Amino acid sequence: MRVLVIGSGGREHALAWKIAQSPLLTKLFIAPGNGGTGEVAENVAIDINDHKAVTDFCKLMAIDFVVVGPDAQVVAGLGDDVRAAGIACFCPSKTAGQLEGSKGFTKVLCDEMDIPTAAYGRFDNEAAALAYLYTQGAPIVIKADGLAAGKGVTVAMTVEEAEAAIVDCFAGAFGESGAEVVIEEFMEGEEVSLFVLCDGKDILPLTTAQDHKRAFDGDTGPNTGGMGAYSPAPVMTREIYDETLERIIWPTVRGLAARGTPYQGVLYAGLMLTADGPRLVEYNARFGDPETQVLMLRMESDLLPLLHATATGTLKGHDVHWKDQFALTVIMATEGYPGAYDKGSEIHGAEGLDSETLQVFHAGTRRDGARLLAIGGRVLNVTALGQTVREAQQRAYAGVDTIDWPSGFCRRDIGWREITRSAS
Ligand code: AMP
Repeated sequence: MRVLVIGSGGREHALAWKIAQSPLLTKLFIAPGNGGTGEVAENVAIDINDHKAVTDFCKLMAIDFVVVGPDAQVVAGLGDDVRAAGIACFCPSKTAGQLEGSKGFTKVLCDEMDIPTAAYGRFDNEAAALAYLYTQGAPIVIKADGLAAGKGVTVAMTVEEAEAAIVDCFAGAFGESGAEVVIEEFMEGEEVSLFVLCDGKDILPLTTAQDHKRAFDGDTGPNTGGMGAYSPAPVMTREIYDETLERIIWPTVRGLAARGTPYQGVLYAGLMLTADGPRLVEYNARFGDPETQVLMLRMESDLLPLLHATATGTLKGHDVHWKDQFALTVIMATEGYPGAYDKGSEIHGAEGLDSETLQVFHAGTRRDGARLLAIGGRVLNVTALGQTVREAQQRAYAGVDTIDWPSGFCRRDIGWREITRSAS
C-alpha cells in the first residue's frame, strides 16, 4: 500500500512512525511533514489546504490511501475530496466532521440521542445570550461555536467574566467562529479522553489518555495545544468505560448513521468524570496531539490495516493490542509559547536518543543541512514507556535533559496527577 499522511505535527510524526512499521506498506509520503518525519517517510512540499494539489499528487504517485491528521483539514472536507478522486481516506466526511467543527451540531445530536453532557443554550445575538446568562448565573462556560484554535472557550467563575466573554465573541474576537455562542452548564470532575475507531456502523475502542493543557507546572498559566500526556488513564475504570461506550459513543455512532451521515474515522471523546457518571465535554474528529504520541508508542498491533478498515467500513472482526505499559510524552516548546515566540533557534542532542522505550517525535522543526531548527511553538515530543507512569516520566525527562536547546522550555510535572494518586 502506498500511503500519504497529511500534516506536520507531532501527531503526524507518530502516525507516520507507526505506519512505517507496517508490513502492508510499500511507500510512505507525508505532506508537508517536519524535520523529524524524513526519517520514516518522504516529506512532500504540497499545500494541504489546496485539495486539488493533494489529489493531483495522489494520482501522480499512485497513492492508495490517505491518512488525514489535523482538524483544519477534517473540517474543510479534505476527506470528501480525496474520496471523490477515487482514493481511500482516513478522515470523516465534512458533515460528520462537524462533531468537531460546530459545538452546536454536537449539542443537537446529544439532545436527539439523550447523550449525557452539559445543559446548554445556543445564541446568535448578544442580548439573548446575556439574558440566558442572567438566568443561569456562574460558574458557567462560554464557547465560540466554531474552531478557534483551542481559544474559544471561557470557563467563567463569575457572571462578569462570562459577560465579557460573550461580548468579546459577538464583537468578533474569534471571527466567524464566534458568530454563534454556546453557553454551557459548568461540569465538575476529572477530564479524560477516550479514542474510538468508527467505520460508520462498527466501532473499535482504542484506549484512554489524559493531557496537560496549561503551559506551566501545577497546571497554571495560559492554555496551550497540550504540554504533555500519558496513557492509559487509570481514572477511567472498566465500569466508567463501559458506561461511556453505551451512553455516549454508541448513541453518537448510531445517531449519525440514522441521519444518513455516518461517522468514519477516529472519535476522540473529551469526557468529564462527574459524580453522576461520565459526561461528554466535546468531540474531536481526529487523533489528539499530543495523545497520539503516547498511543502509538503503546500500540502493539499494526495500525495501517485498522485505519484502512475504518475508512472502508470493514472494521468488524478487527482487534487491537497494547503494550502492558504506560507511555508519557513531554512537549518541549519554544520560550514564549503559547504567545509570541522566535523562530530559527538551533537544537542540539535530539538525535540518536530513540530506543525500545524512548522516541523523540518532532513537531515544529525543520532541517537546515545538518542543523535542526525550531520553527514552531510546540517543537519536540519526548515520549517514553515504563511499567509505571513514574518510570515513563523518569525516562522521558532523562531524554529531555540530554537535549541542548536554550530557547526551549517544558513542564517538569507531566503525569503528576496519576503519580500522586498511585503514591497515595
Ligand atoms: P473544549 O474546547 O470544549 O474542549 O473546552 C476546553 C476546556 O474547557 C475543556 O477541556 C474543559 O477543561 C473546559 N470545559 C469545557 N466545557 C466545560 C464544561 N461544560 N464544564 C467544565 N469545564 C468545561
